[in-house]
Amino acid sequence: MERQDDHDNRGKTTLGENTRAVRLPSGPAVNERPVRIPVHRSTTYEFATSQEYADVLDGVSRGYSYARIDTPTAEAFAHALAAMEGAGLDREVRGQAFASGMAAISTTLLALTAAGSHIVASRAIYGNTYSLLDGLLRRFGVRTDFVDITDLEAVRAAVRPETAVIFTETLSNPTMTVSDLPALAGIASDAGARLVVDSTFASPAVCRPLEHGADIVLHSATKYIGGHSDATGGVVVGDPNTVATIRSARIDLGPSLAPDEAFLLHRGLETLPLRVARQCATAAEFAAAVAGHPAVERIDYPGLPTHPGHETALRLFDTGRFGGTVTVTPHGGRDAGMAFADGLRLATIAASLGGTHTLVGHVGSTTHRQLDDATLLTSGIGPGAVRFAIGIEDPADLIADALASLDRCAEEWESAGQAGIDLGTSQ
Ligand SMILES: *Cc1c(COP(=O)(O)O)cnc(C)c1O
Repeated sequence: MERQDDHDNRGKTTLGENTRAVRLPSGPAVNERPVRIPVHRSTTYEFATSQEYADVLDGVSRGYSYARIDTPTAEAFAHALAAMEGAGLDREVRGQAFASGMAAISTTLLALTAAGSHIVASRAIYGNTYSLLDGLLRRFGVRTDFVDITDLEAVRAAVRPETAVIFTETLSNPTMTVSDLPALAGIASDAGARLVVDSTFASPAVCRPLEHGADIVLHSATKYIGGHSDATGGVVVGDPNTVATIRSARIDLGPSLAPDEAFLLHRGLETLPLRVARQCATAAEFAAAVAGHPAVERIDYPGLPTHPGHETALRLFDTGRFGGTVTVTPHGGRDAGMAFADGLRLATIAASLGGTHTLVGHVGSTTHRQLDDATLLTSGIGPGAVRFAIGIEDPADLIADALASLDRCAEEWESAGQAGIDLGTSQ
C-alpha cells in the first residue's frame, strides 16, 4: 500500500519534470500550532486508502474530502460561533457555515419544510427573507402567514397542524422590534414546530436566542460578526440533529462558506464583544442626544424606555446592550428624511450594518422601497425614517454630525415656510 515517496526532494528521481512539478515536496512535517486558524484553500483531501476515503464520506470517521462538503476553516468558524451562541447552555450546540446570510436562511427553511408545510413569520423581516417566503417557497408548496410577531395571540391563531416553523428576528429593521423569544418558543413547542430566529441585528454579544428557547439561530455574518464590511457569510447553530439535517441540505444545494471568508469571519469573532459593546453604548448615547432635537419626530431604539420593546429587551438582552442600530425619523416626510441622510458628513450612505463605519440609509427609498407611504405608516415606519447602523467612531462626532444635519434640514423647512417645527429649543 505504501506509495512511492515523490515528496522527498533528496536523491535522484526517474519521474518527469511535470510529474515532479505537481508533486512538489510538501515540506517538513512539524507539529505546528498556529495561534490564528490557517486558511485551508485545498478543494480536495488525500487519503491513504480507498477505505479511509469511503469512511470519511460515510461519516464513519472524521475527516475532510471535498471543500463544498467541509473545510477546516469554515468548520472552525461555525464551531466558534456555536460556542458563542451556546455559552449559557449545558447541552451540545453545533454550527454550519454558509456563503451568505440568505444562503443560511434559504437552506435552513428548505431543510425544515416540505410541500404542504406551513410557516408563521414575522411581518417585519429582512426583505429577501420576505420574498423567499412569499415567492420561491410558495412555488414549492410551502405557505407562509405573516403576522405582527409582538401580537402573541395573532401568532397562536396563525398556527396550523402543518406549521413546521415559526420564523422571526431577535431585533428587526427598521423599528427595532424585539421578539418575545420565550413566549414564541412556547407557542412553537405546543405546535410541534421549530422556532427559527434570525439574530443578525443582535449578534451573540447582545442576545443568545438558544438560551431563550429558540431551536435554530442564524446570522448574516456579513454584519456584526465579520464586523469590518469585508466578508460575506452566514451561519446556523442549533441542536446536533437539526443542524445535521441542515448540513445535508447545504451539501446538496452548495452554498458553502469559502475558506478566505471563513478566516475573516473567525477573526471578527475575537473582537465581536468589544465592538458590539461600544456600538451599543454609542447607539444609546446617540439615540438619547438626537431624540431631543426639535426636528425629530420619532426615534426607534429599544434602549429608550419609550420603545415598545424596551421591557422585553431588558429581559432578554445582556445588561446595557440594546443593539447598535437606531432609526431617526425627522418631521417632514420622505423628502426630509432623504435630505437628513444626504446632509450627514461623517455617517456614510450605504447598505449593511455592523461594521466599524457608521452607515445610514433612508428606509423608504432603500430597504423598504417596495412600500408606499401609506403602507410604511401601517407598518409603523415614517416615510422619512433614516436608519443609523452605528460604527466605532467617537460618539460625540456622530452626534454632532446628526445634529448639524437636523439643524440644516430644520432651517430649510423653516425658510420654505413649512409649519410644525419649533426651533426655539434647538441645541
Ligand atoms: C443582511 C441580512 C440578511 C442577509 O444576509 P446576506 O449575508 O446579505 O445574505 C438576513 N437577515 C438580516 C436581518 C440581515 O440584516
